Amino acid sequence: MHSVPYGGRNEKRRYPTGMLPPPPRNNGWIDATEASAPALDPRLLEKLRDVVGVEHVIGDPDVMASYAVDWSGRFRGAASVVLRPGNGLEVAAVVDVCREAGVALVPQGGNTGLVGGGVPLHGEAVLSLRRLSRITDVDQVGGQFTAEAGVSVADVQTAAHAAGWDYGIDLGSRDSATVGGTIATNAGGLQVLRYGATRAQLLGVEAVFGTGATVSHLGGLTKDNTGYDLGGLLCGSEGTLGVVTAARLRLVPQTPERVVAVLGFASTSAAVETAFLLRQSLPDLHSLELFLEEGLALVCATSGLTPPFADGHRAYLLAEVASQRDPMPEVVEVLESVPWIDAVAVATEPARRAQLWRYRELHTEAVNTLGAPHKLDVTLPATALASFIDAVPGVVREVAPGATTWLFGHAADGNVHVNITGVEPDDLTVDERVLVFAAELGGSISAEHGIGRAKIHWLSLTRSPAEIHAMAAIKAALDPDGVLNPGVLLPLGPRPRGDQVAAG
Ligand SMILES: Cc1cc2nc3c(=O)[nH]c(=O)nc-3n(C[C@H](O)[C@H](O)[C@H](O)COP(=O)(O)OP(=O)(O)OC[C@H]3O[C@@H](n4cnc5c(N)ncnc54)[C@H](O)[C@@H]3O)c2cc1C
Repeated sequence: MHSVPYGGRNEKRRYPTGMLPPPPRNNGWIDATEASAPALDPRLLEKLRDVVGVEHVIGDPDVMASYAVDWSGRFRGAASVVLRPGNGLEVAAVVDVCREAGVALVPQGGNTGLVGGGVPLHGEAVLSLRRLSRITDVDQVGGQFTAEAGVSVADVQTAAHAAGWDYGIDLGSRDSATVGGTIATNAGGLQVLRYGATRAQLLGVEAVFGTGATVSHLGGLTKDNTGYDLGGLLCGSEGTLGVVTAARLRLVPQTPERVVAVLGFASTSAAVETAFLLRQSLPDLHSLELFLEEGLALVCATSGLTPPFADGHRAYLLAEVASQRDPMPEVVEVLESVPWIDAVAVATEPARRAQLWRYRELHTEAVNTLGAPHKLDVTLPATALASFIDAVPGVVREVAPGATTWLFGHAADGNVHVNITGVEPDDLTVDERVLVFAAELGGSISAEHGIGRAKIHWLSLTRSPAEIHAMAAIKAALDPDGVLNPGVLLPLGPRPRGDQVAAG
């Protein structure tokens, strides 16, 4: 087991400004287009074929290419091999074989992660979980079921509906993002204000640690205070501690009666103030999203959508209220009590509701049409949210005069997605400036996407040396050989031995 090199006990939190080493400039992990992966020893490949079957050990470079680039196109590497196990036992056997051989694994689900944590940037083997796609042990009375790691969020939602329930997680990447990936990133999304993030949906997990040990805790007890919450620990661990193979998911009651409203405001502060007021006065508030005039204009230009209002407004909120009874009277009463709302568009009918949602949901795709953006995902305390949003474009321009900043996010959670275009992919000065600014205002450098490889350099902005030391100690205990996602979330520990890598 390796020693833990990250800080000591009882160290004080470091103040961020001016105390960081210079940001890395493409230290090999962004757009490693030239990267090639080592060829693996044929005997090792044979062992892996015995475990998962010949057709699920993929070595064809054309097929492997799609596993080696992330959704945004910003992180691009090369895999030594792609492994596609079909069940938890095969996952355990793959981890064992690779650990023995000193071959690092990158677990991958839907590959929609945005921080470079799920792609092989150092020639690792990709462990794709997508074949683990069954939903079993549906408890219609208790409102829970077991979903394997590769089931998409959309399929979990559909199965929950069929069982008479709903699922508490929804996000724009729902058709591709998987149960395993959303657990590994503790994904948030559009309903966090009502149901919490993914960790709050977990009643138990099954996973294979880096040690090769399998833990399976899928009994589904709502209350179970018997020691460490290993499922909760795996949540947000970004594939660095264990490979999630299945989860017991808590379902939520259906709320079929829905109202969606898009509201226009003259200022960001008016929108933010209203967001917190709606949260307080609408108990059935389901989602509350924020976007700005320039983002809306880009969405309309790239998608052909007509803007929601004839006049433009500085800031917009999208609110969804969902209940088992018609929430419209309550919504009207509350909106009428807020005199500074300048424009309102309301929909109850599903197709029109979906249309209003497109103004918010198409932001990520619209920004991507301008080239791979620098994507930062920060949370601010409620009191600092409006001033952060207003100030951050200027903060960006100070270090990158030609850059454009696009801001949108989950208003009720204080979560802003900061997308910056017009900056070279490997110039991280702008990332650092924004993250330091968020930390200075008491925020976090990752609200929901995680640290991955993209933000590893700045973890100390919002986590103390003692916290990072504790995380590294957990990593050392559960993945002592550093076989799972080395270099993600925490700086590289010991490298896998690589003695099964063929020479030449
Ligand atoms: C259009 C769009 C909208 C998005 N909206 C949101 C949003 O609202 N909220 C939000 O939180 N995120 C959002 N995301 C980010 C992304 O969808 C989430 O991070 C999601 O949880 C990733 O799931 P995935 O299956 O695609 O994981 P991947 O991208 O495949 O992997 C993500 C990380 O999890 C690890 N991992 C994957 N599967 C496993 C497993 N079975 N066991 C252990 N580790 C594993 C990987 O190694 C990697 O570190 C969005 C992304 C896009 C493209």
